[in-house]
Amino acid sequence: MDCIFCKIIAKEIPASIVFEDDTVSAFMDIQPVNTGHVLVIPKKHSVNLAELNPEAGSHMFITGQKIAGAIRKTDINCEGVNLFLADGEVAGQEVFHCHLHVIPRFKGDGFGFKHTKDYFNLPERKELEENAGKIRDVLITSN
Ligand code: AMP
Ligand code: ZN
Repeated sequence: MDCIFCKIIAKEIPASIVFEDDTVSAFMDIQPVNTGHVLVIPKKHSVNLAELNPEAGSHMFITGQKIAGAIRKTDINCEGVNLFLADGEVAGQEVFHCHLHVIPRFKGDGFGFKHTKDYFNLPERKELEENAGKIRDVLITSN
């Protein structure tokens, strides 16, 4: 399998490791949005959220939370943090080994999300309820 993140885990290519244990590895992003940008990845290869083992996902998040706290205690410019995960190409995923971005943020850094054209037209409660029902139905039947 030709996966760049699996190669980092196997130490076949260089990475600046921040933390690793049996389940996850965390290292500096090679093209940081801001200085201090870290990626947390599960060691077991999974392409996306659907494939990701939930326990590994929990541990990935907890590790991201710890690293966010650690970054804030360094002298890296960090007034806030975005935790970001791109699930699928259309969502911005470029490396198809699940990963959590820990992105330090500061005022005026220029990073941000672009809104969809309908963002400022708030949906009626009826529409919110309909969509909540669709998701609820799947959650109920998949449990
Ligand atoms: P995404 O768009 O969510 O799939 O993010 C992939 C991230 O992986 C990008 O921020 C890249 O800069 C980062 N990346 C790609 N290759 C490497 C590498 N060899 N070492 C560290 N980060 C990498
Ligand atoms: Zn992989």
